[in-house]
Amino acid sequence: MVHMDSQVKSLVIVKSPALTPKAILNQKFASNAIYKTEELQNSSENICPGLAIPQKGPCLYRCHLQLPDFSLISEAFPRKKDAEQSAAKMAIEKLGIQSSTCESTLQDPWTELVARVSWLFTEKFLSSSHPLIGHFREALERNGEFHGFIPLSVIGACDLKIVNWCKSIHPGAESDPLIMLSLITKAARLHPICIPDDELWIRNKKTYSQKTIQTLANQYPRSAESVQLEAVLIPFMDEKPIEILTLNISPNHYYLDEIGSKLNLKDSSRVLISRPIGKVTSDMRLYFPAPEISSFSLDSSLEMQLNANECELLKQTLNKRASYLSVQNIYGDAILAVVGYTRRSSGFLYKHVSLSTYYRILVGKIPVGNYKLSREAMLVVDLPTNYATRSNWRGSSPRDLLSMFCHHHRISVPIFDIEIVNTSDIYLEKSKRLKQSCLPNLEDGFGCEKEFNSITNNDPDSLVYFRCVIKIFSSKNDLIVQYSQKDIYQKQTDAIQNASFIVISWLNAYFKQLDMSMSTLFANGQSCGIHVNTEIFLKEFGLCLPVHGASSIYDKQCSSVGSSTCNQPKQVQENETISFEINGPDSGISPSEGSLVCISYTVVLMSREKDLNQILETKDEFEFEIGTGAVIHQLDACIVQMSMNQTANFMIKIPSRDLILAVAFESAGSISQSSLCDYFLQYSVKLLRITYPFEKMLEAHFKPSLSKQRVEFAVRFINKSYAKTLVDFGCGSGSLLVSLLEHKTTLEMIFGVDISRRGLVHAAKILHSKLSSSPISVEGTTIKSVVLYDGSITVFDPRLYGSDIGTCIEVIEHMQEDQATLFGEMVLSMFCPRLLIVSTPNYEYNPILQKSSISNKEVDPEDKSQAAPCKFRNYDHKFEWTRKQFEHWANSIASKHNYSVEFSGVGGSGAIEPGFASQIAVFRQQSAPLEEKVLEGNEVGNPYEVIWEWNNVATKS
Ligand code: SAH
Ligand code: MG
Repeated sequence: MVHMDSQVKSLVIVKSPALTPKAILNQKFASNAIYKTEELQNSSENICPGLAIPQKGPCLYRCHLQLPDFSLISEAFPRKKDAEQSAAKMAIEKLGIQSSTCESTLQDPWTELVARVSWLFTEKFLSSSHPLIGHFREALERNGEFHGFIPLSVIGACDLKIVNWCKSIHPGAESDPLIMLSLITKAARLHPICIPDDELWIRNKKTYSQKTIQTLANQYPRSAESVQLEAVLIPFMDEKPIEILTLNISPNHYYLDEIGSKLNLKDSSRVLISRPIGKVTSDMRLYFPAPEISSFSLDSSLEMQLNANECELLKQTLNKRASYLSVQNIYGDAILAVVGYTRRSSGFLYKHVSLSTYYRILVGKIPVGNYKLSREAMLVVDLPTNYATRSNWRGSSPRDLLSMFCHHHRISVPIFDIEIVNTSDIYLEKSKRLKQSCLPNLEDGFGCEKEFNSITNNDPDSLVYFRCVIKIFSSKNDLIVQYSQKDIYQKQTDAIQNASFIVISWLNAYFKQLDMSMSTLFANGQSCGIHVNTEIFLKEFGLCLPVHGASSIYDKQCSSVGSSTCNQPKQVQENETISFEINGPDSGISPSEGSLVCISYTVVLMSREKDLNQILETKDEFEFEIGTGAVIHQLDACIVQMSMNQTANFMIKIPSRDLILAVAFESAGSISQSSLCDYFLQYSVKLLRITYPFEKMLEAHFKPSLSKQRVEFAVRFINKSYAKTLVDFGCGSGSLLVSLLEHKTTLEMIFGVDISRRGLVHAAKILHSKLSSSPISVEGTTIKSVVLYDGSITVFDPRLYGSDIGTCIEVIEHMQEDQATLFGEMVLSMFCPRLLIVSTPNYEYNPILQKSSISNKEVDPEDKSQAAPCKFRNYDHKFEWTRKQFEHWANSIASKHNYSVEFSGVGGSGAIEPGFASQIAVFRQQSAPLEEKVLEGNEVGNPYEVIWEWNNVATKS
């Protein structure tokens, strides 16, 4: 025995897994190594359009490590832990610590394992609270031959320490329960207290005192009543369907005995237990029969001693679906159940596991499936075709998807390395060049715009950009995938998210077509900068094809329908297009590519014979952006043909059995029994809202955005005319007023008017936080007072009479044309600002963007209605004027009220057809108004209601 022990020990040194850098440093410096993590704020990441509300995005951490002789700072990581490890690693490299010198100080895992196993068989252990104790109680209450016998498998399943020591001795123990079992057997044999029989039992040689047994019985009470527990049976023969099975657990009945009998085993010792499925803390596990091999012992190099027959047996009985689920080798029929004794509940715990749970886990293992789950719209959602910002990406972020993917496949978490690019003049040159070549020529579409985006910096002083390198390592620490980003980003998170998006999309393409050859996989990666080690990739993901790709017996019958398990077949089939049926009057307000829409929908599973009619999924509100691949293509195609408030029905063929069963809940059982080839899905959709059409795209198409350019336009006039008072007519959510606080101007008092309470409340909130965070938040601000009024700009309020400057930015098109004219009259005759700036869309500019946004869509030349899916930039616009119409409006009111007017604009150029994207008229008062108008005005009282007011107390003296 002793001999064997030392033999194992010498092996251990070689096999011992690397200590973490922190652990190594800890051995040397203990508390003299001080770690401080710093949170890097990315709060500027998601600024709501127009409103500077920082939303806290995921942050990054940098670790400052202080050692007695030096200190250092790590790079930024999404997790604190990683930042600390990285700092420790840097320190180790700096110190030149050899890992071999550390190993001698390592605790010996073998000794630890033996000690741990024997501790479990002390009387003292039985008075602790440990999930194993439930099993001890069961064993000691059992009469007869197996009194006091405990299945060996529960030791590994219930004690995390044992699992960890086993992993340290043999990394393979993690993925192969047989190795774990053998190690525990070996450890148990070394100790005189517990003896394993040649069976898979273990027991204490000594008998326990009666008192101990009594306290034990009290500590882990049995459930008082019988339990009928639903579990899922996963047959090892791939062609057999997954089934629901009921475990009958009565009081005085050991649950593992019941599982054993369901697996046709002679006793519970033959029941092996997988690690938890899904989350590490989950209580869901697989139960499967111990293979019929002669001995569970290891040879001198800690490999299983198996003869050729046994190897063949294992190969043949490998349960691929179960193995894929737990990323462990599972043999024979397996039962997926939540049952047993756990750390988190005293006593017996159980929970039903349904078929849809099983299929959800399965679907959640592929990138798009995980995304579907995170958006809770399994049948509708697809992985979008690009990642622009957090705000147009819903559901788990690309980085989270990638991390989850690795976690679900039990490979190491991806490493995100950030490279800091100090932009040389080359980049600046490039940015200038792009600016020139890109902007006037909008027909070029968004391609160059995107590139331009990635090197644009809001802060002209900062020249630092980021680039991300992603590395994914296998469970054995071999590099599987490496992606080096080409683009550079102003924010680290953008770099990480975009890089993750590339990798996750590449992985998703593979899962859509699992029979893809490794050379195609390689080439696909190559084309987007991903390098893949195909050999290791195949090793890690070898089971994906048989599990996701191999069809079940029912699907095979349906193969003509083209239902490959993971989403769309390789090519969208012609005949797949489904009949649309759109109902309701055409409201004239239609979404277009890039519109953010809100729909309600219901998906029903129907059979051709109409004997089944099962609602699979339904949602009252679901938002997505059209044309970004955010939903199944049939839905996208349907919505662009609808107008607001219309409903539509369409049918599609069954996408994949897994997906259907993942959403089917109660009915999953009955559905799984039937052949799905006679079924189809019926979608019923209603278009509830169009949140933004291409006005938003147009805004963002320009750099700086149109709204920013309008602010800058106004600021120039304010400062040129030394304006001290400003009225913003139709201030909305206050985007102009807020921006004015951030600019250095001559303004002292600013006023906003709007009829939308919602907008005003929003404006008040932001202004308040801006102004109260530090009374004069921007150096040099002269503003002493801000007032927001609720009122219509077609009604005169004398408090706003005679300001130095008036602005009316993108407002008149929201009023009926006669109201816009009324406002024009009112403002120039009653409010009488010295200067008035009015902006509104230039209708003639629309086709430029509309063309580029639908150019890549097939447009039916016969159908003229499709050519311009959205007439105006925003569904709330009552009109949009050509330059001529606008000039007519402006000239007529100007001449009537003794104002001069000049025309300008922002976005594009006034000199090139079709003029500016946003047209602006600047009115100038030619002579001071007559005093009597003020008096006249006073007679109407003060119709506006003050919504919010701020005065700078400090400057009031
Ligand atoms: N000027 C803002 C908001 C433009 S949206 C900006 O540039 O962001 C148009 C705004 O006009 C809306 O907030 C709407 O409530 C407002 N509006 C429309 N008719 C109005 C009226 N008769 N009186 C005051 N505001 C009006
Ligand atoms: Mg508008």
